[in-house]
Amino acid sequence: MEEKLKGQKLADLLIQPKDHIMNVHPELKEPAWAFAEDYKKFMDEGKIEREAVDAAIVRLQAAGYEPFDFKKVYKAGDKVYWNNRNHALIAATIGQRPMNEGVRVTAAHVDSPRLDLKPTPLYEDNELAFLKTHYYGGVRRYQWGVTPLALHGVVIKKNGESVKVNIGEDAGDPLMYICDLLPHIAVEQNTRPLYDGLKGEELNVIVGSLPYIDEELPAKDTALAGKRVKLTVLNALYEKYGMTEGDFMRAELEVVPAAKAQDVGLDRSMIGAYGHDDKVCAYPALRAEIDTVDPQYTTVCVLTDKEEIGSDGATGLNSDYLAQFLETLAEGQGFNYKEVFRATVCLSADVTAAYDPTFGDNYDLHNAAFLNHGPCFAKYTGHGGKYNASDATAELAARIEDMLDTAGVCWQMNEMGKVDQGGGGTVAKYVANHNIDVIDIGVPMLSMHAPYELVAKLDVYMTYLALKAFNEN
Ligand code: MN
Ligand code: MN
Repeated sequence: MEEKLKGQKLADLLIQPKDHIMNVHPELKEPAWAFAEDYKKFMDEGKIEREAVDAAIVRLQAAGYEPFDFKKVYKAGDKVYWNNRNHALIAATIGQRPMNEGVRVTAAHVDSPRLDLKPTPLYEDNELAFLKTHYYGGVRRYQWGVTPLALHGVVIKKNGESVKVNIGEDAGDPLMYICDLLPHIAVEQNTRPLYDGLKGEELNVIVGSLPYIDEELPAKDTALAGKRVKLTVLNALYEKYGMTEGDFMRAELEVVPAAKAQDVGLDRSMIGAYGHDDKVCAYPALRAEIDTVDPQYTTVCVLTDKEEIGSDGATGLNSDYLAQFLETLAEGQGFNYKEVFRATVCLSADVTAAYDPTFGDNYDLHNAAFLNHGPCFAKYTGHGGKYNASDATAELAARIEDMLDTAGVCWQMNEMGKVDQGGGGTVAKYVANHNIDVIDIGVPMLSMHAPYELVAKLDVYMTYLALKAFNEN
């Protein structure tokens, strides 16, 4: 038996502490606030996955990363990146140790819930022009009405030219907007369940109300009746981007909130932004990768796409693109990829729900995550009877927790909401299915998947410290 202890010593030994980061590391406030500044810039530059990939590449190139050459053999200390179809990105630093001793993979996603334009989006109805949308990911549709919106994306024109679209972000830009009913005549709508407050086919973006008129098409000419407002809108797009109505079918255009990332709270302790999920893990993962110089183990940072709709497709982590990248590196060092995968560890970095006292009933308070308590492990995700979960082993949890404890990183562990209240999953299982050890960890947040989400600066910075410690150990 262990020595018999009294009171305080016993409590210190036996009770797992739960603490606000400021109570443990008040000295981190200054670097955390500083870290938030470039994060906010990254958020404004990278609202959609393409732009986030671009914003990440700018930072990687500034740090000396070079485009990955699948035919080249790399040596320790080399820093490379691979741009997968402008939607996903892998950055890596070759380690001192051979890859069969393992790789440190950090994975986060850069796609966020939003409203995509339909292939034929533009129509005119009673002298108003609209763009039809198809929501992407788990949006609560009623949250997207009556809020300033912007249009982002890319159009590949017939001549092959790729044009970046960005309307609603610069000062003086027009905004996009989705209407809702006024309360005065909403008696019927008020009886809908919250889920149907705005229905999918009601998420129509208003983009014009002015009929096109000139000497060739005078107002009294009725040949174009019902299409003149639409023509005005098409003309505006033609003048700005040289695009036609047919180009919508060749485009990727996404409607996102126009709001910029900004401090929230009178103490400026939080950051509000669109798309924290999951750029609030992607950015720390990217910075941790960049700041890991000459590591023992090869570090691989994956910023992936399509997580919000199930990770399928060539740019989602249910594809083989990460495995192919690792295989190529492994073969370059003369190893079978299976040997490398078995020794590899991955932190799947994705956000989790922080406890919100206003909606406290939906959480199991004993297993909730708290704002400002640091990055949060999810040993398993899934729903119901842990269906679709990637459930990390005790051995892995112990190994990663010890690693973070040694590095002085504050962390917590949660389950997202009460059992059977819902649930969620992320990319962990797709990496784990390759026989790679994976555990989830990420920033706790408030109002996840809302057009404007909240995180705490201390958690963002502590997540960076966690991922950096992982890369270095
Ligand atoms: Mn996520
Ligand atoms: Mn999400």
